[in-house]
Amino acid sequence: VNVEEKLFQNRYKVDHGRPHIKIRQPDLCRNECKSQSCTYVCPASCYKAEGNGAVTLITDGCLECGSCRIICTELSNVEWEYPRGGHGILFKFG
Ligand code: SF4
Repeated sequence: VNVEEKLFQNRYKVDHGRPHIKIRQPDLCRNECKSQSCTYVCPASCYKAEGNGAVTLITDGCLECGSCRIICTELSNVEWEYPRGGHGILFKFG
């Protein structure tokens, strides 16, 4: 079983209208960040590098690993909280 198939076994409850992660200032991603590391470090591909230099974030499917918060040290442009109780990733073990 590959990683994608394993990830597919997890379920995700979306907290509509209340994403638990936000990009503080999207302009910073576009104008100040050269690496845009979040777009390749996220195991769930929540961040996307748009062709025009912008980075977009869709938190559905986030695994709550915290990598994006850690990698964005230079600009600290990631606002990160755990989802509200009952929302977010439901890991299936075994
Ligand atoms: Fe992706 Fe992990 Fe950040 Fe969630 S916490 S958006 S899975 S890098």
